[in-house]
Amino acid sequence: MTERIIPVADLRYLQAVPHIPQPLIPATGLLSDKLGRPLRDLRISVTDRCNFRCVYCMPKEVFDKDYQFLPHGLLLSFEEITRVAKIFIAHGVEKIRLTGGEPLLRKHIEKLIEMLASLTTLSGKPLDLTMTTNGSLLTKKAQSLKDAGLKRVTVSLDSLDDTTFKQMNDVDFPVSDVLEGIEAAHRVGLGPVKVNMVVKVRSSGAPSGVRSLASIATSSCRWRRSSGSPPVSRILRTPWATNSRASRVISSKLNSEDCGRNT
Ligand code: SF4
Repeated sequence: MTERIIPVADLRYLQAVPHIPQPLIPATGLLSDKLGRPLRDLRISVTDRCNFRCVYCMPKEVFDKDYQFLPHGLLLSFEEITRVAKIFIAHGVEKIRLTGGEPLLRKHIEKLIEMLASLTTLSGKPLDLTMTTNGSLLTKKAQSLKDAGLKRVTVSLDSLDDTTFKQMNDVDFPVSDVLEGIEAAHRVGLGPVKVNMVVKVRSSGAPSGVRSLASIATSSCRWRRSSGSPPVSRILRTPWATNSRASRVISSKLNSEDCGRNT
């Protein structure tokens, strides 16, 4: 009688799986874009959740109570994120920015920061580790983030007017709490604090809203003093106003104030 073999696994499937060498081949070569510019910065989103419902990003009509966010089990673990970071660093990345959603909603984020802060770049320097946050939890978390090894934060702040700010975040979150968070970040040394502002004409109060944001930065100079770089560094995603128009308002404000540019 001939022997009958019943396979417990479909070997045809096995052949389709790409071969992953063990151990991994060490990374060689730097990453660059099509123009040959080296890629040094990597953004890592640690969660798709946010406690704000900014009208231009996560409108309530879509991101309502029934919206299916990723289940926790599908998020990269801290170990997996660190492994990915190591691979990118081996290809020349020197700066990592943690984002979300709102990254401070990810539980035990300080642990991940500790793990990433222990990595060094190809030239042996510490990694430039930063975070973009909406600032709502900064007052509570600034010190522990600093202690874990975070270098700087960028805070999203769309308006200084409380009514406008609440309209923009659409969860009634007061602007004073974000400003407190910025102060806390500055106090513990998470600086220079940068501010991202989405300008919505007729909502942000632009250009006067932009001008007042530039004013608080220039009049006190507190946020820029530590580095000399402008705190109002960038304006992201301006669907209702052009970047150049907002930039002109900020530039004229920064130029018109004697803020000790080189301090
Ligand atoms: S705080 Fe940021 S991530 Fe959250 S809804 Fe607003 S823009 Fe989106």
